[in-house]
Amino acid sequence: MNRVYFHIIALLMLLVALPLQARQYTVESVPNVQVTDRTQYVTDPDGYIDNTSRTHINNLLAQLRDSNSVEAAVVMLPSIGNDDIDDFATRLFTHWGIGKASNDNGLLYIAVMDQRQVVIRTGYGLEGVLPDILCSRIIRQYITPAFREGAYGKGMSEAVEQTLHIIMTPEASAELMADEPIFDQETKALLVSILLVYLICSFFISLIHSIQIKRTTNKLSNNPYECYKELYNSRTMMILAAIFFPFWGIINYIYSKNVMKKMRTNPRNCDLCGSPMHRLSEDVDNQFLSPQEDIEERIGSVDYDVWMCNHCRNTEILRFDNAYTLYSECPYCHAKTMSLSHDRIVVPATTVSAGEGEKIYTCQYCKKRKIDTYFIPMIVVPKTTGGSNFGGGGFGGGMTGGGGARGGW
Ligand SMILES: [Zn+2]
Ligand SMILES: [Zn+2]
Repeated sequence: MNRVYFHIIALLMLLVALPLQARQYTVESVPNVQVTDRTQYVTDPDGYIDNTSRTHINNLLAQLRDSNSVEAAVVMLPSIGNDDIDDFATRLFTHWGIGKASNDNGLLYIAVMDQRQVVIRTGYGLEGVLPDILCSRIIRQYITPAFREGAYGKGMSEAVEQTLHIIMTPEASAELMADEPIFDQETKALLVSILLVYLICSFFISLIHSIQIKRTTNKLSNNPYECYKELYNSRTMMILAAIFFPFWGIINYIYSKNVMKKMRTNPRNCDLCGSPMHRLSEDVDNQFLSPQEDIEERIGSVDYDVWMCNHCRNTEILRFDNAYTLYSECPYCHAKTMSLSHDRIVVPATTVSAGEGEKIYTCQYCKKRKIDTYFIPMIVVPKTTGGSNFGGGGFGGGMTGGGGARGGW
């Protein structure tokens, strides 16, 4: 009696364990049906796809190959172990060389049953007509719902039908895109609240910023030149604020610019006698500048304002740096008169070695030169060798850049 029980239990355990131990495939062990028979496009060793669907898919893909020279393969695998399906799809694509090597128009549909994942992988040449977002839609609309009900043949043949439709009639992509709104309600609400939080934060940050400008102006009201310089030095922050918080940031930027302009033209009194001064015009002020200052002003890297006392003729020269200039300070004479005069390649980069270039800066004032060398990275050429192509049939050696999409069910 015990022996009988033992046998029954052993048999039951075997029956339960058998389907769990699905065969694991590697890229090398997946049979390529195309190699043995050119009319076959579906590799499905465990028979998930029914015969009617298989015939239908084979007909569709043959039609696609004949009319548009697109090479496609459908692969249904019980398991690939712990391998990543995305990665597996790309490797299988390259291993089989799906698509003509000349135009990389390959297409691979692969489903892994134990992972409940599916990937559509497109060759370089198909990325334009079948962008990733369309592949993702096809998976969500046709494969996922059918696969959830175990209708693998139906899901796969509808997905193939839809891809065929898109490749043959490009207007079809617009239809598929129109079916689904870009954002669902939940995402929309989330985006709106993010936008609101952003606007409120932006408002308060900008408010604090304008208070700061106001405080600088008040603090240095008796020294307009210092006030101007302080605002000038905070320009990076000002520009960043204008970029990240466009609306309020730009208002602050304009506000600070105006304050700076006012500070520059504010009436001044003489340090020696206390009498009011007047600002000399640009043509007259040149005679009061040193040769270095004269060159800086002429090339526009620095602006000099010359103020003269109405009473004692005492002069005061104020320096205003121009932030938007190609000139930088010369390390030898310290005039702001150095600019890039030559940029040349000394050693060109090749596919096997990095190169070197040099930038030569020349000072307009002391005429000295400064040389900066820089590195040119090695030229990287994408691999052009296709996958294996053996036997009478097989694919044409096409490549993929990993285009396509992935989905689960
Ligand atoms: Zn004076
Ligand atoms: Zn110099």
